[in-house]
Amino acid sequence: MLYLNDPLLLKQQLFINRKWVDGDSEKSISVQNPATGIEICKVASATKEDVVFSIECAQDALQTWRATTAKQRAELLKNWYHLIIENIDDLTSILTVEQGKPLAEAKAEILYGASYIEWFAEEAKRMYGDIIPSNKSSQRLLTIKQPIGVVAAITPWNFPNAMITRKAAPALAAGCSIIVKPSETTPLSALALAELAQRAGIPKGVFSVVIGVDSKEIGKELTDNPLVKKLSFTGSTKVGKILIKQCADTVKKVSMELGGNAPFIVFEDADIDQAVKGAIASKFRNAGQTCVCANRFLVHSSVYQAFTTKFVEATKKLVMGNGIEAKVSIGPLITAAAVQDVHAKVTYAAENGAKILLGGSPSQLGANFYPPTILSDVTPDMRVFKEEIFGPVAPIIAFDTEQQALELANATEAGLASYLYTQNYSRIWRFSERLENGIVGINEGVISTEVAPFGGIKQSGNGREGSKYGMDDYTEIKYLCMGGLV
Ligand code: ADP
Repeated sequence: MLYLNDPLLLKQQLFINRKWVDGDSEKSISVQNPATGIEICKVASATKEDVVFSIECAQDALQTWRATTAKQRAELLKNWYHLIIENIDDLTSILTVEQGKPLAEAKAEILYGASYIEWFAEEAKRMYGDIIPSNKSSQRLLTIKQPIGVVAAITPWNFPNAMITRKAAPALAAGCSIIVKPSETTPLSALALAELAQRAGIPKGVFSVVIGVDSKEIGKELTDNPLVKKLSFTGSTKVGKILIKQCADTVKKVSMELGGNAPFIVFEDADIDQAVKGAIASKFRNAGQTCVCANRFLVHSSVYQAFTTKFVEATKKLVMGNGIEAKVSIGPLITAAAVQDVHAKVTYAAENGAKILLGGSPSQLGANFYPPTILSDVTPDMRVFKEEIFGPVAPIIAFDTEQQALELANATEAGLASYLYTQNYSRIWRFSERLENGIVGINEGVISTEVAPFGGIKQSGNGREGSKYGMDDYTEIKYLCMGGLV
């Protein structure tokens, strides 16, 4: 049962042009609680015409929106931010029931998501250009930054709130209009954000939300339509590659936050307790379903036993269950299929010589639950090493030299986050500079913040979200060459 202080935050329609609309009369989306399998409610499913209309409305709205002052846009974003904070308890409950993460984590996500709106409300006012010293005395050269135009955002189920605000806030701050297509698995947080955007006074057409049973069809329209100038996507590498190809015909600018395969490296001089604390935070947040979760633990052989023993002990303290219960620290996976996929990777490792130190078999709690699992004696040919696990499984592999650790860490096409634990500051610099990742946590397992750039290299994608760089993805630089000066 979902109890809300403000029941109007539970929306079941699409939000287009500042109106709530019904979508396809023949179809709807059943939103289920992953902890219980019980349906929370049904949500409307967009037709292709709804998507086209949302794009046309965004294009109409753009002309007025881009002409507003940065201060005006900042005020509206701040209104939105304050409404989110005022309604945080309801937004937290909605997020936990549709996504499964424990209440404390859901609340942290709402705060984290809101922090991007606050940050970009401030950054809107700092969209500076340059004056460039010219080679000719008759010229003055300058640049201005302008909004790129209509933006489409496609977001995943693992952060149903924050992945939207991370894209919508910089887009709106820059003067773009945006259409968000959240995951059909977790649409309720997106629709609650839309309700609050409406209350905040964000004008019609500037922020719309479309959802549908057929994400491919919606994605095709968002990528094919020439009115859309930019696509920002967070999700799997597989779908990201499809979307990049689809954007090629209209040469859209793309930002991609794709899968990771984060190495977590513990050197012989690491503070082991600090490393264990970081490992728990990085590995088990959202039951291992984040793209920056530690995916492979590389531990120096001289501290392998000490680290592993303490890590197992600390992991045993996690309480798995329905995230709505206060004592729970790890929730379900998103679907039973996800559990089967994670279990297949664990089984493959065990059959090929890995030892299961903790967990390792599906839980009695229900089809969507998989217990925190730790594997030792892992080798680089195992799926848990090569693939993103997206579940609460920690594979541990030993190394003897720094060079070996570096080669293992970089032996993947993914390049999002990495973590290293050492007290040697020369090594920190040397190693961090050679790691092929967009983000390096140094003696720190929690790296996400709105003030720093989040993003990957290699096949983990491109673009950066948050920080002073975060608006670059939503702006074009225009160069003005003024000549004929005497
Ligand atoms: P995840 O494993 O996180 O679900 P996906 O990449 O499958 O990752 O999904 C992320 C987002 O992409 C979701 O909103 C989903 O509906 C959407 N999506 C999935 N397939 C497509 C597609 N072919 N075209 C457009 N969007 C898609």
